Amino acid sequence: MARPVVTIVGRPNVGKSTLFNRLSGKRISITEDTPGVTRDRIYSEGEWLDKHFTLIDTGGIETNTTDNILSQMRIQAEIAIELADIVLFMVDGKEGVTSADAEVAQMLRKSKKEIILVCNKIDKYVNNNNIYEFYNLGLGEPIAISSTEALGLGDLLDIVISKFDDDSDTKDEEDRIKIAVIGKPNAGKSSIINKIIGQDRVIVSDVPGTTRDAIDTEFEKNNQKYTIIDTAGIRRKSRVSEAVEKYSVLRAFTAVERADVCVLVIDADKGITDQDIRIAGYAHDNFKGMVIVVNKWDLIEKDEKTFKKFNDDIRNQFAYMTYAPILTTSALTGQRVNKILETVNEVYSFRTLRVSTGVLNDILIEAVLMNQPRTVKGKKLKIFYGTQVSVNPPKFVIFVNDSTIVHFSYQRYLENKIRESFEYKGTPIVMEFRSRN
Ligand code: GDP
Ligand code: GDP
Repeated sequence: MARPVVTIVGRPNVGKSTLFNRLSGKRISITEDTPGVTRDRIYSEGEWLDKHFTLIDTGGIETNTTDNILSQMRIQAEIAIELADIVLFMVDGKEGVTSADAEVAQMLRKSKKEIILVCNKIDKYVNNNNIYEFYNLGLGEPIAISSTEALGLGDLLDIVISKFDDDSDTKDEEDRIKIAVIGKPNAGKSSIINKIIGQDRVIVSDVPGTTRDAIDTEFEKNNQKYTIIDTAGIRRKSRVSEAVEKYSVLRAFTAVERADVCVLVIDADKGITDQDIRIAGYAHDNFKGMVIVVNKWDLIEKDEKTFKKFNDDIRNQFAYMTYAPILTTSALTGQRVNKILETVNEVYSFRTLRVSTGVLNDILIEAVLMNQPRTVKGKKLKIFYGTQVSVNPPKFVIFVNDSTIVHFSYQRYLENKIRESFEYKGTPIVMEFRSRN
């Protein structure tokens, strides 16, 4: 299920990064008094009253320009508008309204996004007469907070989650496979997509994304409906995406969140990049399906060892996703491109497979007989029974005497036993252990 995206925009030094850290619950970006410091982390997950959201601090997006603050802010605001469901526009309550604030406010007003005007640095409630001038920005009532003192944050979060669209994801419950094609610019993503949807008579239509403006491509093939989720630079090579390196990564992240199955395209000629590894890790952590495609296979001089070399390299670099199938393709010649959708179908069918409780428990009982859990902290793990609670991703809940003594290696052993019976090609599986007496 896609999480709503909340972005923070505002002038340098208004306190974006401080708020970001507060809402992330972890201090993961750098805060300094110097304006324009680069942050090491601009993307995070937030939670309030059981509602989950993705938080982006656009102040941390490097714009690769030496432009003045105002034009940098414009780019950041554009990105915020495009990625976000909800924009937090932050102003400095100590300084008052500046002309840069007014200009960005105008852009935001035109965007038709949910905008929340956040007036920061109101460190004491008594001292908030300043905030009234912010009504002039035309964005409604300013919400007074102090990021450093953690004042007003609960009220702010109440407002944020009240804007979440409750059924934003339930509209698309039909059996449609959502695919995110990800990978470095120039790896061949658009060429592959064009081959997939262009080679047969397929119905193609550009529809606005359900929760934001990304343009997705819907098509149907052999009675199966698909959506290809737009990622950075697939079709619209916009000015912004060209200018901003981190932006393409952010868009890839949000695409992954909305996908059932990711297709990671690697340029055979260039090899695996850090960005590939990060995005694949993100897909894994979010339990998304994964197909790894080594494209531009035509450019590689091959002998009998070539495939094995690529294969070993990928298994090495993506050691945590041994489940991901690897394909070698050429979007240029069309070689094996048709395998991609076939494999996606296969992965999706594993993601939606339901294993009966009886069969699952046969597997667990046999696994435990063959290899007893070791005693941890003087206590022996007992496994009572397991059941599959959901699909896409497959999730198993296993009831045990004490969930705190489940060793990671034993969890992996059980997962492997389940995979021996049902493969679960291309997908992570979720295993949750619960204590029961
Ligand atoms: P950013 O550039 O918008 O991300 O701003 P930062 O989060 O880096 O904050 C800039 C400066 O403002 C830092 O020195 C913060 O400690 C300070 N600051 C942030 N929030 C508050 C606040 O609520 N009250 C006060 N007094 N200072 C704040
Ligand atoms: P994207 O940025 O990932 O969408 O990559 P594109 O699909 O735009 O491809 C980038 C460049 O690589 C273009 O010039 C393509 O023609 C070329 N290209 C894509 N796939 C292949 C391939 O399999 N083999 C060769 N030789 N070139 C390819």
